[in-house]
Amino acid sequence: MEEMTVKSNHSSYPIYIGQGLRYQIRAYINKNYTNIFIITDDQVGSRYLEDVLHGFPTEENICHFTIPSGENSKSIEKFYSLQTEALKNGLDRQSLIIALGGGVVGDLAGFVAATFMRGIDYIQVPTTILAHDSSVGGKVAINHHFGKNLIGSFFSPVAVIYDVETLSTLPLHEIRSGYAEIIKEGLIANQKMFLSLLDHSLASIKPQQLEIYLKAGIQVKARIVEQDEKEANIRKFLNLGHTLGHALETIHGYGKITHGEAVANGLLFALHVSELEFQVQLPFYQLYQWLKDNNYPILSISKEEIIELMELMKNDKKSIGGKIQMVLLKEVENPVTVSIENTLMKHYIQTYLE
Ligand code: NAD
Ligand code: ZN
Repeated sequence: MEEMTVKSNHSSYPIYIGQGLRYQIRAYINKNYTNIFIITDDQVGSRYLEDVLHGFPTEENICHFTIPSGENSKSIEKFYSLQTEALKNGLDRQSLIIALGGGVVGDLAGFVAATFMRGIDYIQVPTTILAHDSSVGGKVAINHHFGKNLIGSFFSPVAVIYDVETLSTLPLHEIRSGYAEIIKEGLIANQKMFLSLLDHSLASIKPQQLEIYLKAGIQVKARIVEQDEKEANIRKFLNLGHTLGHALETIHGYGKITHGEAVANGLLFALHVSELEFQVQLPFYQLYQWLKDNNYPILSISKEEIIELMELMKNDKKSIGGKIQMVLLKEVENPVTVSIENTLMKHYIQTYLE
């Protein structure tokens, strides 16, 4: 087991990462709580809830609730039923919520914790590769019909307990999804990890190697959020690949393509735009080839979709003043935020499709 710490102006919390941690979560909780409420989804709960429960003494007040897996659960309705459940089970201000699952459970349970009686402690127990990213940094949210993550807050967990053993049951497309964020972190701040990853096919990566990538990825994310918790400046770099990525998710429909698969396409596009904007050579083809070799869906965009994509990118909550804001790379490990004029963006999309 390894311990890392995230320290910022507003919070400080440990991240424990290792094999089999789900059996001993109690040992990492250093406070007594009146009640512990575990929130999980059906895919994760059926596999790991019993293991987690076994690690708590019988006298502990524990309750749990299982939501259907998938993005649709990040809804105001599920949020409300969880608050109801928490009240029915007698949770109070000295209670703890445990989010056992991927980014969906983490974002939803974290937002329930942020708002229940004006905020109670919660612990992230991530079970997807992608959640190495979402469980660190304290962004919690649910979706609105108008868009993703529009209702939420910044609310840090008191700990992150990452049992990498649980990742062995992930379906392939979720594995691909998670690695896209690791590639992103490599491009932003760890070239060595990025190059090492391009040297391996996903199928050949052993659990120990995955653990090394996860720690390196968390390190990148933690160092950035420590300096800029509320996304006033450098935290924006973590949106590399996400401007097009979010637009593709909206066009193709959530559930048809995973978040990370959309981000992988967005990363390719960001490399393409960066090469043109700064007249530099970046590892565009190496990444393209690696994504193809590892069966990532490389999405084609029709001429009609270009206009729709541009509108979506403009409406992204990160854009300002009608111009599209994008994170680009001057070189690997050197990200910058750039506003791009419409005509130029259209040109970039067209050349990308050639
Ligand atoms: P997810 O939570 O939906 O998990 C993906 C699928 O894998 C689900 O069907 C889930 O039930 C299943 N699953 C989870 N763990 C499993 C396991 N160990 N074995 C088998 N199946 C398992 O999705 P995700 O990719 O983890 O997270 C995506 C969400 O994270 C999105 O809603 C996104 O907005 C959010 N996100 C948040 C942040 C943040 O900073 N808060 C950052 C990135 C993404
Ligand atoms: Zn992402």
